[in-house]
Amino acid sequence: MRGLWLIDGAGMIARSERKIEPADWQHSLREAYTRPLELLDALQLDPAAVGLSASAAAQFAFRVPRPYAALMQPGDPQDPLLRQVLPVTAEDRRAPGELLDPVGDLAAERAPGLLHKYHGRALLLMSGACAIHCRYCFRRNYPYGDSVGIERLNAALDTVAADASISEIILSGGDPLILRDERLAPVLARLAAMPQLRRLRIHTRLPVSIPARITPALVRLLGESRLEPVMVLHANHAREIGPALHAALLPLRHAGVTLLNQAVLLRGVNDDVDAQQTLATALHGAGVLPYYLHLLDRAAGTAHFAVSLRRARFIMKALRKTLPGYLVPRLVREVAGQPYKTPQA
Ligand SMILES: *Cc1c(COP(=O)(O)O)cnc(C)c1O
Ligand code: SF4
Repeated sequence: MRGLWLIDGAGMIARSERKIEPADWQHSLREAYTRPLELLDALQLDPAAVGLSASAAAQFAFRVPRPYAALMQPGDPQDPLLRQVLPVTAEDRRAPGELLDPVGDLAAERAPGLLHKYHGRALLLMSGACAIHCRYCFRRNYPYGDSVGIERLNAALDTVAADASISEIILSGGDPLILRDERLAPVLARLAAMPQLRRLRIHTRLPVSIPARITPALVRLLGESRLEPVMVLHANHAREIGPALHAALLPLRHAGVTLLNQAVLLRGVNDDVDAQQTLATALHGAGVLPYYLHLLDRAAGTAHFAVSLRRARFIMKALRKTLPGYLVPRLVREVAGQPYKTPQA
């Protein structure tokens, strides 16, 4: 494998040690790390020193694509990217108030896989699968299968087609971009044919974990759609926005896709002012505006990631003082039964 060129800390062109991944994103998907020991070995970390838990990994499988792992700092057990994906003993503890469906999604289901919680927007679960498994995720306990049958999808689309109040469709999951472009194309075509729809939004973490997922075909699908395309990425730390993601997002920007980011406030990952500032500026550097900063949903086994509301508000205040207003994300929490994501600061 060849190395990569980038600008180093002194502003010079330098050769990076990092490997270039094959452009084929499905190869990256298949070749993901699925054994924690293999990743720890690549990072030169001692499994005994990181609190690895086999039972946590049995509850919610370990999965980390190599392009994402390549952004981690070898030798650092506290690496903010590693912490997001490593199954640790803290997950085995149960905290009071943890719920299997903390955001009330099951109650908002209009048809199997179609959530209609908020005015004018419906969310379609395109797949239960993800390229990367994030330990803090509330969907870790959500009872859906990995694949979505064509019958279920058509029934959900029929429900959307029959509802004149829906102007925006949100493709979510799991991760909707785990589906190949050839599978997405007919869904997008059906949606574009529904006259009441104006916007098409995709919620995805796939470009962050495998930047090559943004293929020329996907750019064309979004750029040429009648619907106004919006992509909401999910990056929690500035280091997740590497040169490969930066380059991959450029054609989406040129195709007129509105790029936003949602992050989760996570203890030990991004719960300080500096981490949030550098995330916001790195996002803007890649043409992405910070949208939401979520307080953690109280899913079982995630209590060690929780950040207090008091600390979250302290961080938000500091961000407002130092960043332009358009780079300050909205701090929100999802409260079951509320008509919008509830502002917290
Ligand atoms: C978050 C969410 C939306 C979108 O909410 P916005 O505030 O428009 O970003 C829509 N439907 C569901 C079910 C959601 O969870
Ligand atoms: S739904 Fe998003 S946050 Fe949850 S595991 Fe998948 S990629 Fe990670």
